Amino acid sequence: MKNDSVSLDLPHDSKKIACPAVVPLSSILPEEPLLMMGAGPVPIPDAVAKANGVVINHLGSTMATVIGQVKAMARYVFQTESKWVMGVAGPGSAAMEMAVTNLAWTGTRVLCVCNGFFSERMAEMARRVGADVEMLVIPNGRAAEAGEVADAIARFRPEIVTIVQGETSNTVWNRHLASIAAAAREAGALVVVDAVCTLSTMPLPMDEWGIDAVITGGQKGLSSIPGVSLLAFSEPAWQRIKSRPAAPAHWCLDASLAENFWHNASYHYTAPVSGVLALHEALRLVCAETLERRFARHLKCSNALQAGIEAMSLKLYVARESRLNSVVGIRLPEGLSGADVCAHISRHHHVEIAGSFGAPIVRIGQMGEQCREHHLFRTVHALGRTMHDLGVDVDLPAGVAALERSLAAA
Ligand SMILES: *Cc1c(COP(=O)(O)O)cnc(C)c1O
Repeated sequence: MKNDSVSLDLPHDSKKIACPAVVPLSSILPEEPLLMMGAGPVPIPDAVAKANGVVINHLGSTMATVIGQVKAMARYVFQTESKWVMGVAGPGSAAMEMAVTNLAWTGTRVLCVCNGFFSERMAEMARRVGADVEMLVIPNGRAAEAGEVADAIARFRPEIVTIVQGETSNTVWNRHLASIAAAAREAGALVVVDAVCTLSTMPLPMDEWGIDAVITGGQKGLSSIPGVSLLAFSEPAWQRIKSRPAAPAHWCLDASLAENFWHNASYHYTAPVSGVLALHEALRLVCAETLERRFARHLKCSNALQAGIEAMSLKLYVARESRLNSVVGIRLPEGLSGADVCAHISRHHHVEIAGSFGAPIVRIGQMGEQCREHHLFRTVHALGRTMHDLGVDVDLPAGVAALERSLAAA
């Protein structure tokens, strides 16, 4: 009865793709993890790593409790009473695209305050849905002034203004965000803020500053894993989403469909349950620390790192008044490439730092778990030794001493 037996072989004439020869992860990953001091992802606490190893039913009662707590904790971190907090399976850019493409559509007038690479990404997302985008390009290396943004708002009359709180690419801090948001509000525009690298590292009181959408990722200030992100809409932003002329083009990023999962315990897509559990733990640790103490820790550590870098005679890229604390940009000494510095410090000191997207800098992060004193000493030492090895005349002992002095005085 040959015909009854099922053949597990592929048909004779089909081409077989052979299984590739690979090695297990254990022989790819370093024995001791590298210290992640770049612009993200950042080190994660044990509680976050442990939660990330758990899978539960994405629609059960346990998940409902978890989602309720994630929203409640996120409202504290965003400093908002708005109901419309939600998550998204995707990078910070997915949260950005969810905010921009739900609020903007064909013909929407969007003013993008542009400080660099990430600000531009919001403009590009708005353009792709057919919005009428005006760019206010701020000269490299400085914060946007409230006056120039108010002038651009008066000229262009936007329905939406987008801006980053911290432009990670060139390490500029938009320190006048509160007055810029107020000017936009006064002119009747909704304000969308990219806080991917800054949320929980410095104040961003969403309600107090009148912000309509705040975007964040997991792998930076929050010290969670990459790939699960959070955002919050104000009530006016939510009303705009609900009165869209048509559904948005991106089904996965449709905020009204995401409402099913994040507010009605029902199905949109299968949520990244492990990542949501990880985010829960990351948020719980922020709440346990309190925002006030977390901001103070970031300020103290970033200031000390900056003091250490300058004392060893390296130059910081951005002037004090516009300098971001969450990611510190260090001007590359003459003749060195970012790739050389990053490769050397990684290979010889097992510390990862970041290059850049064009600016002549390397970047060291001060987000979440990166802001620990023992990490700072190891990083300053590794950076100083790397520069010395690459032929730069640095005073490493002076850098370490300045780091210690700054920490002790804070
Ligand atoms: C990292 C970052 C992003 C992008 O986040 P991804 O998770 O890489 O998509 C956007 N904006 C800012 C300010 C960032 O620092």
